[in-house]
Amino acid sequence: MPELKTWLSISPDSDFSIHNLPFGIFSTKEKGPRAGIAIGDQIIDLSVALKQGVFKNLNIPPTVFDQLYLNDFIRLGKPVTNLVRLKIQSSLCDENSPFKGFPAAFVPQSEAQMHLPVQIGDYTDFYSSIEHATNIGKMFRDPANALLPNWKHIPVGYHGRASSIVPSGVPIHRPKGQVMPKDATQPVFQTSSRLDFELEMAFIIGKDTEMGSPISTTDAEDHIFGMVLFNDWSARDIQKWEYVPLGPFLGKNFASSISPWIVTMEALAPFRVQGPVQEPKVQPYLVYEGQQNYDIALEVGIVPEGASETIVSHSNFKYMYWNMVQQLAHHTVNGCNVRVGDMLASGTISGKDKSAYGSMLEISWAGSQPVSCLLYTSPSPRDRG
Ligand code: CA
Repeated sequence: MPELKTWLSISPDSDFSIHNLPFGIFSTKEKGPRAGIAIGDQIIDLSVALKQGVFKNLNIPPTVFDQLYLNDFIRLGKPVTNLVRLKIQSSLCDENSPFKGFPAAFVPQSEAQMHLPVQIGDYTDFYSSIEHATNIGKMFRDPANALLPNWKHIPVGYHGRASSIVPSGVPIHRPKGQVMPKDATQPVFQTSSRLDFELEMAFIIGKDTEMGSPISTTDAEDHIFGMVLFNDWSARDIQKWEYVPLGPFLGKNFASSISPWIVTMEALAPFRVQGPVQEPKVQPYLVYEGQQNYDIALEVGIVPEGASETIVSHSNFKYMYWNMVQQLAHHTVNGCNVRVGDMLASGTISGKDKSAYGSMLEISWAGSQPVSCLLYTSPSPRDRG
C-alpha cells in the first residue's frame, strides 16, 4: 500500500495506524456518546472536527456525529463515509493542515469509554469455515462424512439474537439452563459448566434493501460498511441438549461480544486474497468475481484472574470457505431485506492446524484432550499493516 506519513506520533505496533482509521462511538466524563475515528492512542472527535470545518463541502448533516450509534452516518452512503475517512487521513498527513491546531478534536483513548458502534437490527451467524464444520462433524456425527450434504452448496447460517450483543469488555453473565448430563435420563437445570468462545468476524450492513430485492455477489460489496471482531459466547452443555431440531438457541443468545471499532472495507482492501477452490461448483447466484477473502491474522488469548495472558489460537480470516459476498447473496436470494446496522458473523474461524482452531470445543476436542499441551505462549507474529 502507498506509504503515508502522519504528523502525529504513532507507535509502530499500534493497531490504529494511519492506514486503518476505524469508526466507533465513544464517550468521556465531560460528554456523552458521539462518533470518533481511532488513530494511534487517540480518538478524533468527529463532531468537533465537523464544527471546525474539516468536512466542509461534504454536506454532512450537522448532528450526524452526535448520536448514540453510527447508523445515520453509515446511511449517508459510501461516497460520503469514504470521503470523511479520507479527509481525516489526508489532514493527518498534511503538515499544514489547520487540523493540527485543533487539540479539542483529539481525545486520548485512555480517557474514553467505548460503546456499541451501531444499533444492530438483526444478527445472523454463518457457519462458513470448512475446518470448523469438519471438526464439529467429526466430533458429533460421522468422522468419515463430517460435512452434511448441504454444506458445500449453501452458506449455512441461523438468525441470532441482537439484543445481547455487547462491546468488548462488558462483563457477561454465566448462563443457566437445562442440560442433559452424560448417562442421565432426565435433564437438570444448572449453571453452564462448558462456557466457550468462538473466534469470528462480522460485517455490518451499510445500505438498506427492499423486500423482494436480492443482493447479487457483484453488488454485495457496496452493501458492506465494515467489519468487527466477534466472539460468539457458547454454552456447550445447554447447546448440546437443545439444538435438535432447530439449531442454536439459549446456548448462544445470552451474549456475544464485538470489538467497538468498525474497520471499513476500504481499509481492509490491501489484505484481499483469493479464497479456497469451491468444489463442487456453486450455484450461479453464488458465483463471485475477484479476491473476496481477507488475510487478517487473528488470535485468542485467555487471561485468568490474577494471571497473565495465554494465546490459545492463531487463526486467519483468509481460511473461510464461503466469503462475505456469497453470504450476503445467499441471505437475500429469497427476498429477505437487510437494513443498515444489521450484523452478519462468519462462524467460528478455524484453520487446518490445531493451533488455528477457533473454539475451546475444538482445541480440547470436546473435552477429551488436555488443553495445557496445546497452549502457545510465545508471542505470535502479528500483521499490523
Ligand atoms: Ca458461531
